[in-house]
Amino acid sequence: MSSGTAFNPFTTAQQQFDRIANLLQLDEATRSLLRQPMREYHVSIPIRMDDGQTKVFRGFRVQHNDALGPCKGGIRFHPQETVDTIRALSMWMTWKCSVVGIPLGGAKGGVICDPHHLSSREQESICRGWIRQLAKDIGPVCDVPAPDVMTDSQHMLWMLDEYEVIHGGRYPGFITGKPVGLGGSLGRTEATGYGIIYVLREALKEHDLSIADTSAAVQGFGNVAQHAIELYQMMGGKVTTISCWDQKACSAFALRRKEGIDLAELRNITDRFGGIDFAKAEKLGYEPIPGSEWLADDVDILIPAAMENQITANAVGHISQRVRFIIEGANGPTAPEADEQLAARGIVTIPDFLANAGGVTCSYFEQVQSNMNFFWPHDVVLSRLDTHMTTAFRTVNELAKSRNLSLRDAAYVIAVDRVARACKDRGWV
Ligand code: GLU
Repeated sequence: MSSGTAFNPFTTAQQQFDRIANLLQLDEATRSLLRQPMREYHVSIPIRMDDGQTKVFRGFRVQHNDALGPCKGGIRFHPQETVDTIRALSMWMTWKCSVVGIPLGGAKGGVICDPHHLSSREQESICRGWIRQLAKDIGPVCDVPAPDVMTDSQHMLWMLDEYEVIHGGRYPGFITGKPVGLGGSLGRTEATGYGIIYVLREALKEHDLSIADTSAAVQGFGNVAQHAIELYQMMGGKVTTISCWDQKACSAFALRRKEGIDLAELRNITDRFGGIDFAKAEKLGYEPIPGSEWLADDVDILIPAAMENQITANAVGHISQRVRFIIEGANGPTAPEADEQLAARGIVTIPDFLANAGGVTCSYFEQVQSNMNFFWPHDVVLSRLDTHMTTAFRTVNELAKSRNLSLRDAAYVIAVDRVARACKDRGWV
């Protein structure tokens, strides 16, 4: 599921922004402020490796905009990380927080590294090193990190611990995605995946459909994809194909089972990065197919929940005629040229920064709970998440219908308008 070399997500993010800036007729100063990040940090992190050698890792934190509140966004560990990817993702975080109406801005961080080839101790050193470099520039009132691609609650706890050592106190609101019992919120692990399905349920209602009437193909089998599948199946949907990255072969492959995949069975043969053991899956009766074929499956819904730039203009022709909805679990999975072709085919695309905002919404709940030092039961977290996601979808959908916009454009108009107004009201532009 690698991204093509020519693809630059920041160019895509800026193109999307420019379109909306025109629709909203934003003035020059606001455009100039919002089409670039406000601040970015590039750091070098020297690590003593297990073999005794010292290796230097490059890391980033990009703060796109904090007009609505402290910056918020995940930190990714990825071997192909680039600062432009982080810039794009930080901008998408600003729109994501804005569209769901939470009082937070947008940021994203990353380290160029591959956790598949790092021991736990080496990963801990990278987490602590990243914090040491950035401890003065991030914090509970200015920039709050969270888990993202190949980072989890353990990474967040190491980062929190380092931050607290440096600042000499306990700051549970500094980071989200912490382990439950150490300031984490119940429901945070499943929040992004579940949020996707709450939004999907609402989108289907608009077309007089319910999840139980549908089938889906999913790209990815990490935390987000697994939890989306979990709730989708609990609501009666059938997942027939999963596309996933094969670390050993360094390529994507897909697994198909016409009568529906068994989530528990596949989880048992999956590593913590979402890599399914291909040989074992075949023995369990899954049909192996090329990774790109997940798009061609005869289903109603596609759920890209892996990486950026997966549904390109070229890929649209391979999508099965039956597909009517794409719900973007990943950030930036659809190329802008593909968007137009999908619309021309009558496929409804539910945009990433609305569809996958459940993670950051629950992070916001976690911040509130951490700051109050009072924690909510699981069902309260999930029902508040459902209410939040449902309201956000309905607001976007109403605007889309009343102004004849795509869901992506409507979500953008709402999100950018709120941030632009906040910048103006603060007297920045
Ligand atoms: N990394 C997640 C995202 O892209 C969550 C961010 C957060 O919780 O701050 O939305």
